[in-house]
Amino acid sequence: MSEKVRCLIIGSGPAGYTAAIYASRANLSPVLYEGIQPGGQLTTTTEVENFPGYPEGITGTELMEDLKKQAEKYGADIRTGIVTAADLKASPKKITVDGKTVIEADTVIISTGATAKYLGLPDEAKYAGMGVSACATCDGFFYRKKVVAVVGGGDTACEEAIYLSGLASKVYLIVRKPFMRASKVMQDRVEKNEKIEILYNTNTLGLFGENGVEGAHLIRHKGEANEEKFDIAIDGFFLAIGHKPNTDIFAGQLDLDEVGYIKTVPNLTSTNIPGVFAAGDVADPIFRQAITAAGSGCKAAIEAERYLSE
Ligand code: NDP
Repeated sequence: MSEKVRCLIIGSGPAGYTAAIYASRANLSPVLYEGIQPGGQLTTTTEVENFPGYPEGITGTELMEDLKKQAEKYGADIRTGIVTAADLKASPKKITVDGKTVIEADTVIISTGATAKYLGLPDEAKYAGMGVSACATCDGFFYRKKVVAVVGGGDTACEEAIYLSGLASKVYLIVRKPFMRASKVMQDRVEKNEKIEILYNTNTLGLFGENGVEGAHLIRHKGEANEEKFDIAIDGFFLAIGHKPNTDIFAGQLDLDEVGYIKTVPNLTSTNIPGVFAAGDVADPIFRQAITAAGSGCKAAIEAERYLSE
């Protein structure tokens, strides 16, 4: 089965939906495939307090539902499906969805976002679904009145620790450096939270437990004179150490940086392939905010429209 479209948008985070709003209002009749996580990463967060226009804050899920409705209102065709292959150098570009449906597209906007990273410990795989998680909002419910640990020192780690403190009896925050990189306001909230104990200069060596996570082996001041190994008893182990851009299926075609982020022309969303644009976290190693993603989605749709009219 094959279908021809003028503008295909891959991914349904703030970048994808904003591109869909602009592309549909420009009469490009965009088709958007939602991907593995409809609504993107914001659907795994709790309250979004920094998206302009919501003085009282809004939940990530509600924000994404509103963006989707807004895109549909102007005619965007939003579909469930995962892009499994892409031939971006073909003309028109050929995108395969769910391994079977081929879409031919004059322009493609890639807004596939990024995925949570893991430490790479064998125990993370061993205890997957049995105490290890990279999404506090998704799995926090299972740890009511239990003890959990969150790894990371960024805004995500702070946000997850605060969220979990509302459910769990105690939260360890495992930070590998002697300081956090999170914004000051988030650090303050974590430090003032009586249920959160911050373990600075600490790394995780492994996890232990019979039928699920019962604790973690930790090391403080690794490689220094005062190095110290110790264990903590926990029921849940949450990763919040950043993300990897979802670009594997485009490797070898699009120019990527050393981490895998799509390289775009400075100030634009154009990639090395004419008619292919990248918006949101997939091309943004620096800001990674919902509002910057939405802004770049807008730019991508405007660039796609200009490309088509040239
Ligand atoms: P960041 O990249 O900002 O932080 C990742 C954290 O994980 C750092 O503290 C890093 O440590 C640590 N880390 C990385 N690898 C390891 C490892 N192998 N072992 C132990 N620790 C590790 O990612 P975030 O997901 O926190 O944030 C991404 C972006 O999203 C940021 O720009 C952030 O500001 C933004 N954000 C904003 C929110 C908000 O405003 N409400 C909420 C959530 C995110 P180190 O510092 O040592 O490198």
